[in-house]
Amino acid sequence: MQSSPRLGDHIRNALTRPFHKGLPRIEARKYISFYEEDESRNDTLLKFAKIDFNRVQLLHKQELSILSRWWNDLNFAEELPYARDRIVEIYFWINGIHFEPQYAFSRMMASKYTKIVSLLDDTYDAHASFEELQHFTDAIERCSKNAIDQLPADYMKVLYIALLNLFDETENDMGKQGRSYASFYVKEAFKELVRGYHAEAEWADKCHVPTFDEYVLNGLATSTYGVIMAASFLGLEEVAGVEEYGWLKSNPKIIKAGKMIGRLMNDIVGHEDEQKRGDCASGVECYMKQYNISEKKAIEEIQKMNATAWKDINEDCMRPTKAPMLLLQQLVNLVRVTEVFLW
Ligand SMILES: [Mg+2]
Repeated sequence: MQSSPRLGDHIRNALTRPFHKGLPRIEARKYISFYEEDESRNDTLLKFAKIDFNRVQLLHKQELSILSRWWNDLNFAEELPYARDRIVEIYFWINGIHFEPQYAFSRMMASKYTKIVSLLDDTYDAHASFEELQHFTDAIERCSKNAIDQLPADYMKVLYIALLNLFDETENDMGKQGRSYASFYVKEAFKELVRGYHAEAEWADKCHVPTFDEYVLNGLATSTYGVIMAASFLGLEEVAGVEEYGWLKSNPKIIKAGKMIGRLMNDIVGHEDEQKRGDCASGVECYMKQYNISEKKAIEEIQKMNATAWKDINEDCMRPTKAPMLLLQQLVNLVRVTEVFLW
């Protein structure tokens, strides 16, 4: 209250969201405005900061235009009218993981995979019948053109072919880099996610509310972090080798903590709308049922769990780390994206 208005804004900002939980690029942008008002500023530094911000943003706009073209060419707005049109939103999410120019390929791949994931999410939660989904899940396990004919509906074929094409594209790119294992791991992460979606669809079909523990275990997969991380690794050839992919797949503490926050924060924010559209019980409902408590209390408890998970994340970022810092940073940024967008 007693600070200058400029410092007051800065403090308010930090109290709303601690710097550590903010996205580096957005925090930097805020800081440029703050620093500009600083009487002891270095004008050369300020000028360079602005040029840097604008030039990198220009690059991001180019990437988004390439991605939009890819999305429009797929023609899914027409083919899958039930699906949410979210390409810009998704690019923005992914951009929060790595903003630097050298990770353009990582952003492109992660955005494409996440877009397909979001189509699958809508298909499993809100569109397909459980009967149809059994064929679909099975086809994704097989991952083969021969499985196309077994799919019961045209929209499913369209979606399945798009997924196979994306896998092919990944295999080609990784083959050229001598990193074929990377495409294998992305595919595995994808299958794991689909198994999770399938389990949720089965619960919804049977009107079954699992225990919270059962839900969270499955929720680690449906957080989608596994696919996003693995797809982002595609563009980090200097650090993401076969060992690092193995590390990611083994679900170490930091990854588990991130996935849990991703799943549960989404549930807290979206569970009312999702219940209306007939999704399976979310973490909130499962917690309420298991412990027989109110919604408000369940959300409070889940938030406490998220706070503990953040501590796990911070702990695993202490040196010496079990994986390259760039990869840990990627997880931290992914959780930050979730915090910034949902909270
Ligand atoms: Mg879902």
